[in-house]
Amino acid sequence: MKIFEQIDLLKAYLNEQNQNKSVGFVPTMGALHEGHLALVEKSIQENDLTVCSIFVNKIQFTFEEDFAKYPRTLEEDIQLLESIGCNCLFVPNQDSIYPEGYTLKAYNLGDIEYVLEGLYRPGHFQGVCNVVHRLLDIVQPHQLYLGLKDYQQCKVIEKMTHLTSLDKRVAIKFCETIRNEDGLALSSRNKRLSMNGLNKATALIKILTKAKERILAAENDVDLTLLSQESTQNILENGFDSVDYFAFVNENFELIQTISNNNQPLTILTAATIEGVRLIDNIKI
Ligand code: AMP
Repeated sequence: MKIFEQIDLLKAYLNEQNQNKSVGFVPTMGALHEGHLALVEKSIQENDLTVCSIFVNKIQFTFEEDFAKYPRTLEEDIQLLESIGCNCLFVPNQDSIYPEGYTLKAYNLGDIEYVLEGLYRPGHFQGVCNVVHRLLDIVQPHQLYLGLKDYQQCKVIEKMTHLTSLDKRVAIKFCETIRNEDGLALSSRNKRLSMNGLNKATALIKILTKAKERILAAENDVDLTLLSQESTQNILENGFDSVDYFAFVNENFELIQTISNNNQPLTILTAATIEGVRLIDNIKI
């Protein structure tokens, strides 16, 4: 696997490649697990060349402490990527992504920027859009691989590529959430949980699934506000310290309170904290 820290060396390498080659790109913040590797494997299957990036993007963290605590396991990450046959790894430093005098862009994302994750992490999605835009400009991939575990992020990035017309040259591939044998969504943050915490954390997907089943089985209108309250209570009773939201959105990422037609596609999203670690998950109906 080729490893580049510098933008010009990466660009020179990509330029040297046959111009007819399709390039798949998987941006990550490292501390790689099977969830990330599934994206890289999909890109390897579907493209001639796969570029993965590892960059802990400071500007998307609302709290300095969270950025400092973010796990960094570069040596292991390199081994994992090599073991599955990734062609190229890009590991830039903060200064090359945001050189002195670099002006951050402001994207007009609409309401999606301010609800759910956006409400609890002000500025987060502007940070995400800035880094993904910058990385797409550098790598110039044909296909971009994103995990549905971060469903709101998927929708935000899709919108950013639309606003910037990047969608004309890069196709987004959304990939299913990879879970452990108990259903817990894999996340770099899981590394900070004790065994007991990991066990308890499986409540999230169980309660999301229960809420989904309630909606699918309903013969009449479902009061989603009530379902949200009950599910939140249930998460707390299962050992979580706090729940930021348990919410329902439609395909346009609009929050919904009642559902009368259970054929309407919707997604249930939740964020909750256990042992000081904030986890997110979602389920599609
Ligand atoms: P991160 O390193 O957390 O920024 O994630 C990098 C990419 O991996 C994002 O597109 C995530 O949505 C995706 N990802 C993270 N965890 C999972 C998972 N458990 N299953 C599928 N994709 C994931």
